[in-house]
Amino acid sequence: MSDEPQKPINTAKIREILEMNDGARMRMWLSICSRCGLCADSCFFYTANGKDPKLSPAYKVKTTLGELYRRKGEVTREFLEHCYEVIWGQCTMCKRCSMFCPFGIDIASMIAAARGVCNSQGIVPEGLSRTIENYTTTGNQMGMSTDDFVETCSWMGEETAEEIRGLEIPIDKKGARIMYTVNAREPMYYPQDIAMAAQIFTVAEEDWTIPSTGWDCTNLAMFAGNRAVAGHVVKLMYDKAVELGVQMIAITECGHAYRSAKYEGPYFAGYRDGKPPVPVIHSVRLFYEYLRDGRIKIDPDKMLTEPVTYQDPCNVSRNGGLWEEGRAVVNYLAKDFRDMAPNRDYNHCCGGGGGFIPMGAEFKKRRMISGKVKADQIRATGAKTVIVPCHNCFDQIRDLNKEYNLGVKVVSFKEVITEAMIIPEKFLPENDVNEKGEE
Ligand code: SF4
Ligand code: SF4
Repeated sequence: MSDEPQKPINTAKIREILEMNDGARMRMWLSICSRCGLCADSCFFYTANGKDPKLSPAYKVKTTLGELYRRKGEVTREFLEHCYEVIWGQCTMCKRCSMFCPFGIDIASMIAAARGVCNSQGIVPEGLSRTIENYTTTGNQMGMSTDDFVETCSWMGEETAEEIRGLEIPIDKKGARIMYTVNAREPMYYPQDIAMAAQIFTVAEEDWTIPSTGWDCTNLAMFAGNRAVAGHVVKLMYDKAVELGVQMIAITECGHAYRSAKYEGPYFAGYRDGKPPVPVIHSVRLFYEYLRDGRIKIDPDKMLTEPVTYQDPCNVSRNGGLWEEGRAVVNYLAKDFRDMAPNRDYNHCCGGGGGFIPMGAEFKKRRMISGKVKADQIRATGAKTVIVPCHNCFDQIRDLNKEYNLGVKVVSFKEVITEAMIIPEKFLPENDVNEKGEE
């Protein structure tokens, strides 16, 4: 939280937010919760912290959003600071608990509503506040300029064209089949991710483009409880897709970006039918289709031979419905796939979702403690490689790897596919073709 002088609590604003956030449904959920406790064991915060009853999902919402409704928004700053601890520090909004509640009570949506209240009073983790400023001024969470982004793509395109003949990274190509959007961490810290995507698209002979604006598909404003900025971010992407006349928006290997673009973003951006103006596809589905349709072929000699497991990102599997596609892609790439238990839509959150990673050092200790559930799951598989199609999960599992000495390699699908895919001769660099001919 920031150390800036604190403004008085604006009760009218809190009441407005409580009603705006589907107040009738929230109150109904709060009133039908029977305190049965069936959701408790589903939550990794609860199980990783000695089954502390204060970490059960029902208790967390009762003492935060429940109190906000009960007190009709008349709360103190101290109370909101208690909420801050709970709603950002004890829940990643993974939605696993809802699968175990006999009434299907959506705890994560209630935590999101409480985040909205705290955000309205300036009570937000600093790491998320910074991203809000960046989204507002530049349209991306890293505060990168359009020139720098386009320059990075062009640099990656030039470098990678040395490996794949004819490779280009087309910017703002009108009428392309897919508009590929990235996590802003990629151009900033992992530009090779963009290069790998370009290799896959080139070999799959995809008709694709990267937009010069609206290219950051992340939406941390959604986790900060800032609907206005969340709507602004996602609208930049939708508007660009409409302007370019593309058929689909493709999302990089990022979970929450998919949840935002496909499911929650339309509401943030004011589309009352809840549908994005252009269909949205996640990389997991796209890669699955390429492999299924033979547009990408894997060299059997380059498949992973050591045991491999797969992380179901909450917003790709449970909340995105792509758990079977993810497994199908792994099976194209690995000879010894070992699933975690539980898995698919019942898999545990890695502990890095809901904005936890960008919330930074303030939250790292509890992120590591609660992540033990995921670390134990990974260790039990005996895997040497964990395939992780989400940036947040990737960072969290990489940190858990160090914290719990898991001894695994953490990789994205892009990394494994580009290592193992067969490059047709027409895409081989001239020198390689000549050498082949001389053999
Ligand atoms: S949404 Fe996930 S992290 Fe939050 S209370 Fe439910 S199970 Fe726990
Ligand atoms: S399982 Fe549902 S009804 Fe039971 S305590 Fe949890 S939220 Fe309440």
